Amino acid sequence: MHTEPLIVSKSSLYVVATPIGNLQDLTPRAIDVLRGVNVIAAEDTRVTGQLLKYFGINTPMISLREHNERAMAEKLVQRLQAGDAVAQVSDAGTPAISDPGAQLVAAVHAAGLRVIPVPGASALTTALSGAGFTCPHTLFYGFLPPKSRQRQDAIAPLVTLPYATVFYEAPHRILDTLKDLADGFGHDRTALIARELTKTFETLRRAPLGELLPWAEADSNQQRGEFVIVIDAAPPAAPDETNAHDHVLHPLLAELPLKQAVAIAQTITGAPRNALYERALELKKAMQS
Ligand code: SAM
Repeated sequence: MHTEPLIVSKSSLYVVATPIGNLQDLTPRAIDVLRGVNVIAAEDTRVTGQLLKYFGINTPMISLREHNERAMAEKLVQRLQAGDAVAQVSDAGTPAISDPGAQLVAAVHAAGLRVIPVPGASALTTALSGAGFTCPHTLFYGFLPPKSRQRQDAIAPLVTLPYATVFYEAPHRILDTLKDLADGFGHDRTALIARELTKTFETLRRAPLGELLPWAEADSNQQRGEFVIVIDAAPPAAPDETNAHDHVLHPLLAELPLKQAVAIAQTITGAPRNALYERALELKKAMQS
């Protein structure tokens, strides 16, 4: 394990994850970096100011918001070129995850300068680690559209994907979104609601989508705070029995009479003779047309 005191590198952009609620989740390395850099580019200097105060960090800040990110990126690249070390933080969690940050990082790469991510909290990984879904693949969607029609359209192509899918949602839309998710993914699909992660009223509830909506509706406390919803992956599609043995039947039919092809296909696949015979008839017809 690396335990040396950190010396911040010149001309480097540190992309620093900050807590999503519990201040103890700021890592010792992040504290060193935030202390050691020349300037901190913060999404909201008031929010980050409180974090810095808590840890007794006096590094100057500048504001890097969505609307000024491009212009600010140019200025920060100049500072990096002049030798400064810069840290970038968002209000909570990991920058550039449903937050500003990607444009500055891209500009620093384009200028041939060093980008150093400093990992830490993110609502995405925190919720996923508490979901218990065994599917090894994950799709991070982030925020769905605010209007129901567009939200339903966005959900539709996701429902058959073999990936656990992660959504962020705001409290004033949580009930509407849960309803659209249940309608789209189906009331039986298992999901996790992770509310107020790492905070006092943290709640994780894992249940079929059809149960989560009435549960959240019944208790107004469950509609407050910040939310991540993780939906389990679609179950594997049942194999299509109709053409499961085409790869065997096809070459046999090309060389042999139908009855003989079916008999050999049955020996190879062990599939029922009738099913193979009917499929062979269809294939033969298609091959002759
Ligand atoms: N960059 C952040 C990250 O790495 O998680 C996400 C920023 S995004 C603007 C804010 C959204 O993240 C919230 O609306 C909520 O969906 C989710 N979120 C952030 N903190 C959370 C928490 N403590 N509990 C649950 N969800 C949270």
